[in-house]
Amino acid sequence: MITRRLFLRLTVGLAATRARPVLSRAGTKARVVVIGGGFGGATCAKYLRRADPSLDVTLVTPQRLFISCPFSNAVVAGLQPLTSITHTYDTLRRRYGIRVLYNTATDLDPLKHRVTLNDGKKLSYDRLVLAPGIELQWGAIEGYTPAESAVFPHAWEAGSQTELLRRQLKAMKDDGLVVITVPDNPYRCPPGPYERASLIADYLLKNKPRAKVLILDAKDTFTKKDLFVSAWKRLYPTTLEWISGSQGGRVTRVDARTGTVYTDFDEYKPAVANVIPPQRAASIARVAALDDGKGWCPIRASTFESTVHRDVHIIGDAAIVNPIPKSAFGANIEAKACAAAITSLLHAEPVAPPVLINTCYSLVAPNYGISITGGYRVVDDTIHTIPGTDGISPLDAPDAVRAQEAQYARSWYANITADTFT
Ligand SMILES: Cc1cc2nc3c(=O)[nH]c(=O)nc-3n(C[C@H](O)[C@H](O)[C@H](O)COP(=O)(O)OP(=O)(O)OC[C@H]3O[C@@H](n4cnc5c(N)ncnc54)[C@H](O)[C@@H]3O)c2cc1C
Repeated sequence: MITRRLFLRLTVGLAATRARPVLSRAGTKARVVVIGGGFGGATCAKYLRRADPSLDVTLVTPQRLFISCPFSNAVVAGLQPLTSITHTYDTLRRRYGIRVLYNTATDLDPLKHRVTLNDGKKLSYDRLVLAPGIELQWGAIEGYTPAESAVFPHAWEAGSQTELLRRQLKAMKDDGLVVITVPDNPYRCPPGPYERASLIADYLLKNKPRAKVLILDAKDTFTKKDLFVSAWKRLYPTTLEWISGSQGGRVTRVDARTGTVYTDFDEYKPAVANVIPPQRAASIARVAALDDGKGWCPIRASTFESTVHRDVHIIGDAAIVNPIPKSAFGANIEAKACAAAITSLLHAEPVAPPVLINTCYSLVAPNYGISITGGYRVVDDTIHTIPGTDGISPLDAPDAVRAQEAQYARSWYANITADTFT
């Protein structure tokens, strides 16, 4: 349980504003540059300006429109349009005075405190926030490169890939096989592949009842497994099948030319293959060895400052924040804690260790929701689950509870996107 006191401690800390402006090394307003306008970066930029309107905050992100991965599985399954998960930065700019640059950061000099953009422009900062999300590891599955993703979509970054997978499902034969390949941990959104398989199974059952979904998994277990498996037995007994890593589910190679997916023991020729490859922190979070050469970025959890370079903070999927999963909920809450820490640091005030929360909702069917939740505190720069705060939906809940959780999931999406982008 998140107690009222814990919640207030977090939210009160965030609401604090400063009367005196803080100056940068250059004697101008203190400059914070935020790279990446997703759940982590957009939230952090907003909460920095809320905490201290004197800060000069620049948000660098490639696209004018942000299309969210949360609820993209519902788009894949045809339950809602892509426009329903598309957001702009207009309110962040207008209401909070954030300078938004539609550009890509290509390099970083942590010693000179400078970021280089794609057009050669350089931005100086007092504090830098990196929230660039993930990069797909092309080639980690033999034969899977950007060219193959046009045939076997990953749809693990939302947008055109989401639409491609949707189109393929609509176009496939009535008795077709859909294969979804799932990598080992860690990856963005641990329950995401299983939610996707569920919603695709729901779509097939209603529209192509002779078709089937097969999950080829590199792992033997996954988050909320008992809840997913018991729901699948009931809702999709002949439509959905899961093959674990030890049963031969690990995908080693794909051949888009022949339409084949290979595991250690078998080969499949699906009508649709959704290949979700292994991932790592996006490239800008791996320059200057910010990932220690290991793919994900270590941070000091009290401030989210990199353990490799000073004055560089890393939040969201790119950072190592175990036991918090790589989720939009997590990126949003880390962003607020990071904004509070940066404001304190710039004002030479002590940083209050953050209290963090996360809930991952999954839809197993349009009116069937399940969730897992946790509360976390930071001790000695390490994140710990607060005993008694971890919770999961009951295994034997009645349909009314599942329907209510599906409603909570939709309401969560409305709230988190409002908190992030408006
Ligand atoms: C299918 C699916 C379903 C999901 N469902 C849920 C859910 O229900 N609940 C949940 O909590 N989470 C969910 N997630 C996870 C969630 O999408 C991520 O955890 C979240 O987006 C992470 O936020 P982030 O800010 O780290 O990265 P992102 O939100 O991906 O934002 C990163 C941004 O940085 C930009 N960027 C990258 N490199 C650069 C650069 N060099 N310069 C400038 N900008 C750059 C990117 O273009 C992007 O706009 C889901 C994920 C998937 C794939």
